Amino acid sequence: MRLNCEISILNRLAPSANVRNSTKPARASLAIGRKDSTKSSDGTAAKTVFLLVCTAKERTGTKYKVKENLQQVFSKFLEKGKATIRLKEPPHDLLINKADPSSLKSFLSILKLGDKELQNVKLSGLTPAKACDIEKPKTEMKITRRSDYPLGKPFPTSLKKLSINNCALLRIEVRILQIRGLLCLNLCDNQIKEIPCKMARLSTLSELILNGNRIKKFPPSLCNGIVASSLKVLDLSNNEIRLFPTSFCNFKNLVHLKVNSNQLHALPANIGNLTNLRFLSASHNHLTVLPYSLSKLKLESIDVSENPFLDQNSWNVINTLAFPSLKEYAGIAVKRNRCSYSADLLPLSLCIFLDTAKQCLCGNYCFTSCVHHIIPLNIHQLAHTVVSICPTQSHIPSEGFLCSRRCLQRLQSNKRGMWK
Ligand SMILES: [Zn+2]
Repeated sequence: MRLNCEISILNRLAPSANVRNSTKPARASLAIGRKDSTKSSDGTAAKTVFLLVCTAKERTGTKYKVKENLQQVFSKFLEKGKATIRLKEPPHDLLINKADPSSLKSFLSILKLGDKELQNVKLSGLTPAKACDIEKPKTEMKITRRSDYPLGKPFPTSLKKLSINNCALLRIEVRILQIRGLLCLNLCDNQIKEIPCKMARLSTLSELILNGNRIKKFPPSLCNGIVASSLKVLDLSNNEIRLFPTSFCNFKNLVHLKVNSNQLHALPANIGNLTNLRFLSASHNHLTVLPYSLSKLKLESIDVSENPFLDQNSWNVINTLAFPSLKEYAGIAVKRNRCSYSADLLPLSLCIFLDTAKQCLCGNYCFTSCVHHIIPLNIHQLAHTVVSICPTQSHIPSEGFLCSRRCLQRLQSNKRGMWK
């Protein structure tokens, strides 16, 4: 049985036995097994149980006898992957750290068996540890050449940061999506066409860089997955995305959003719900208006340069407020209660109708009975740093929807046209 952990060895007879007199903590492989040691009275070799500690410095390992040699096992912090094995001879304490708690538990339970019971347990022979067991787990990998791309073997599961650039990757492989604990995935400058739905399950991913690919669609399933709550940086610049799903605003923790040089005709209408967003760049797209909900955000910087914005500096308010139909009321209830719907559950026409829901700045939803407004928004009021669009243009038309007469009055009562 083998346990991968970090070990430091304390000699209790050293002049002043404290932690400083122990060896430096090192990545180690701790094994328990049998090896020929003594000859019994009838001349046959008897197998004795040993503990073998292998480190990168000492690959062949140090052996400790287990039988009648175990003084004590300290396992109070087992759940944190820590324990200490105190041996009688030599008077060493093996300080175990950073072990997998469940593996440590089963390892110690075998070690703590009485000598008689231990004789009945099946144990393998002692062999020195493999290099991969004692090397520090790899947390970062950067591949910049196609010839370096690993084929046919899984990526190390310990990876926190993976960059694969300029490798002409056509898709994001399952092997990549199987790395649990991945924090940063950088796949820029490849030829990826699709973001796989399985990416929604990456619960720790906080940075996703897909700059310079051929992505056409942002899958709605990603917005409803666990990744939506972990992602902080999303770079989709230099792709071919035309539209973001309305549920894109589930990425509540997003701080950086880069969508430069795509084919976007609009930013998500309810982008104002991304309350943590601080940096937004959407230059070189086909934007003609900005969503009015942007005025709710506290941005550090904004770049919406090189877009064909409408040349309109006056208010344009189209009021179609009426008593909502029963269908609209039902639609508002579905949206407000975040009921999931799909073409399997509802007629397709109803799904399309529900997809046309607009969110008012007050948070309510509306359909055809609403106020559609296009008003100029002072871009310099949106962020501290504004990448200049054109020195003379400080106002950009913004589009929004209001659910009621009260919300319309609230907007009109503010002379600067900012929602307060
Ligand atoms: Zn409203």
